[in-house]
Amino acid sequence: MSDLAVFDQYESEVRGYIRSFPVIFDRAHGSVLVAEDGREYLDFFSGAGVLNYGHNNPVFTRALIEYLESGGIIHGLDMATAAKREFIAAFQRLVLEPRGLDYKLQFTGPTGANAVEAALKVARQATGRSNVVAFTNGFHGLSLGALAATGNEKYRAAGGVTLGGVTRLPYDGYLGEGVDTLDLFERMLDDPGSGLDLPAAVIVEAIQGEGGINVARPEWLRRLREITEARGILLIVDDIQAGVGRSGAFFSFEESGIVPDLVTVSKSISASGLPMALLLLRPEVDVWEPGAHTGTFRGNNLAFVSARAALETYWADSAFTDAIADRSAQLRDALTAIAADFPAAQFTVRGRGLMYGLASPSRPELAGAVSQEAFKHGLVIETSGGRDEVLKFLPALTISADELNRGLGVVREALATLG
Ligand code: PLP
Repeated sequence: MSDLAVFDQYESEVRGYIRSFPVIFDRAHGSVLVAEDGREYLDFFSGAGVLNYGHNNPVFTRALIEYLESGGIIHGLDMATAAKREFIAAFQRLVLEPRGLDYKLQFTGPTGANAVEAALKVARQATGRSNVVAFTNGFHGLSLGALAATGNEKYRAAGGVTLGGVTRLPYDGYLGEGVDTLDLFERMLDDPGSGLDLPAAVIVEAIQGEGGINVARPEWLRRLREITEARGILLIVDDIQAGVGRSGAFFSFEESGIVPDLVTVSKSISASGLPMALLLLRPEVDVWEPGAHTGTFRGNNLAFVSARAALETYWADSAFTDAIADRSAQLRDALTAIAADFPAAQFTVRGRGLMYGLASPSRPELAGAVSQEAFKHGLVIETSGGRDEVLKFLPALTISADELNRGLGVVREALATLG
């Protein structure tokens, strides 16, 4: 094991992932992390969804080095820069236009949480209402506005204040198969005695990442869109984790065909791991006064350079989504076989694209134990869900079939060891 004394001694107790993966990582390439002692680890975590195109993808490294050497602007507040103009043009041409989407782009502070804050604020301003509906097991970030929409008890408790302005409703599947949880929402909206204040917005993940890889059915999302549209409630899709190809399409809501009013995007949008976040707004919802949601680090021009390189390299045709579909089928088949081969764990397999979970509600401690055991054998894999009961498969979208197989083999062996 690497020497972690300096972290133990000087870094805050808040540190998290270092405890699950206690080695000192030094370098990385593609789906491989290399520790300081030279040991290699296969990465099934991808920086919690930041590294959809793998670590140090040479396409972006080259673009970034060229930009740095050319003396390009690094920090630009929200001033006009050439790098930003080229990113906006590429996003328009390669993402929005082909999908028939009409959104303005807001460059928020560079975290996902800040894009969520902006979405909630502008939705409240645009409607003149304050209540927001969020769902069970939703995760939207940890700043106070976003935290109010986040479900997890541990994070909410750390906020230290009363979190208000959000009504929690059951996500798709929360009450078991055969129950459409939107019946409750619709009933409450139409009943003046329900106690539900007409919301400004509903915020939803099409696939819940931190909440346990829960997938909303396309018909559920379509009904949610209909219910909200009919009542002038804005629909925010939080695509911070499930977006940028993770679900198998650029946006996670594409499969359902819905058009949200607002979309938050972050994590893999910069492609290189550099911080960047975006809020997409339907033009009618863009009611901001100039400078009303500001922030020092909205102009990370290096991030714009790698973001644009990614769009031009991976999103100009369907080759990338075809490759994701192949790996996705491989992952689903392998997880289905694992679930069948370890019946005592009573696993359910859920997910889409390259975002899958192996959930064991009857043995919630199993996912964490597998993650630890797998790490000993060179695999980085995380857990998610309210009780951390879901083993979360989030490999790079660029992972090879061999690497995917190798990691799945480690999971299988870990399960066999743990019994
Ligand atoms: N929304 C979703 C769906 C997320 O998965 C996350 C982070 O995991 C966030 C928001 C918050 O992003 P950040 O940690 O960059 O603030």
